Amino acid sequence: MDCNHKNFSKEDAELDFLGMKFNHNTLVCNDCGAYLRGKDFESAYMEWLNERYHQKRDKFQVQCHLSKNLTMCLDKFIEDYPGVTQAALMRALVTVYINHIDINTDLVSRFNSLMNKDILSSFNSDDDRKKVNIQFKPKMMVQLISISELVLQRPSQICETSIIKMMACFTSQDENLKTFWNQEIQGYIDTILKAA
Ligand SMILES: [Zn+2]
Repeated sequence: MDCNHKNFSKEDAELDFLGMKFNHNTLVCNDCGAYLRGKDFESAYMEWLNERYHQKRDKFQVQCHLSKNLTMCLDKFIEDYPGVTQAALMRALVTVYINHIDINTDLVSRFNSLMNKDILSSFNSDDDRKKVNIQFKPKMMVQLISISELVLQRPSQICETSIIKMMACFTSQDENLKTFWNQEIQGYIDTILKAA
């Protein structure tokens, strides 16, 4: 049932983020209980998240398990970026995939149609896996959690899939995928890694 949110009252709203509670006095719909998340709410929420980020940085980490084959490719990739760590590269790959490709319906369907299943499985089938932690900033972590709730996958799964797809594209010998990488991905990765 859709609610038009016509009757409001001011209430203390509580929001859960990774087991931490954010409380804020805001407008709440009397009919359905939805919070009106206006500018004031969002900026208070971001401020609260930034404080948590400084106090409990580990909450904003995602632990992934990546195949040796994949981590070797990551190491090879960062040879061209002096001073860039493997963790910074992984964060960049996830960020570009989520914020640039996955968000764009045309781009993601083009990407998926080009994707080579053999390379994807070569990165996936390896049982010899390495545990890695990826540190995210609050805004990206919020995005990851909301995607994870939407697609019913853990944030770690979303990160692993993003990294695998991006590296499959990067290592591909296929001309179309190479072009896709050069036109749609490389520039964003460069910008992020140079700022890191
Ligand atoms: Zn309502």
